[in-house]
Amino acid sequence: MYVVLIGPQGSGKGTQADRLAPKHSLMKIATGDLFRAEIAAGTELGQLVDRYLEMGELAPDEVTLAIVEERLATIDKGAAAGAVFDGFPRTDGQARGLDDALAKRGAAIGHVVEIVVPQSTLIERLEGRRVCPSCGKTFHVLFNRPAVEGVCDRCGGQLEQRPDDTPEAIRQRLALYHENTAPLLDYYSARGLVRRVNGDQPIDAVEREIDQAVAASENGISE
Ligand code: AMP
Repeated sequence: MYVVLIGPQGSGKGTQADRLAPKHSLMKIATGDLFRAEIAAGTELGQLVDRYLEMGELAPDEVTLAIVEERLATIDKGAAAGAVFDGFPRTDGQARGLDDALAKRGAAIGHVVEIVVPQSTLIERLEGRRVCPSCGKTFHVLFNRPAVEGVCDRCGGQLEQRPDDTPEAIRQRLALYHENTAPLLDYYSARGLVRRVNGDQPIDAVEREIDQAVAASENGISE
């Protein structure tokens, strides 16, 4: 099963992908996380994408598709029963590239879940977000605080603010979302794949809506 979570930055895609993946033995493929890992490891790819991430701009489609293909290859080896995509695809070219990559494997996107959140909530979430650079777990200075301030509950890492969670980069990223990514909903809607969930509610409630959305489209129930 291949699921795409679509929503602006701060809509909770990462949190929800982490919850959905183990329920269906899916690999979480989050291109932002993959890029940050490459940057942290100082690889050639990391050096190539570093400035895009810093500016809140999109990395080139070829580079993004290549890193996704690499992950899909590990699914081919039987590591998972499919994937949940978080932060990918973000452009028309990526969506088409993903369709081609899946078609080569005799697979296709089965579910697209749009997580809808008002812009004011997104800005509040992103500005207060803190992430653990060691394990990737995210916290919020008001809404999801760690037990010890500044320290990751899961691995003890020192929490940081992402460099692209500054007001200027946030504005840039949200504008890009509306320009490039929101039109993908039309692309997938034409195939009847899109279901909307309300992301402006507690994490557990969003999770329940996503589970229902996936189950409903598994059973062929239309909205
Ligand atoms: P995210 O963690 O999803 O917010 O992604 C952080 C940054 O990584 C983005 O602002 C882009 O610079 C880059 N990035 C992540 N995913 C993609 C993608 N699918 N296409 C292009 N750039 C991406």
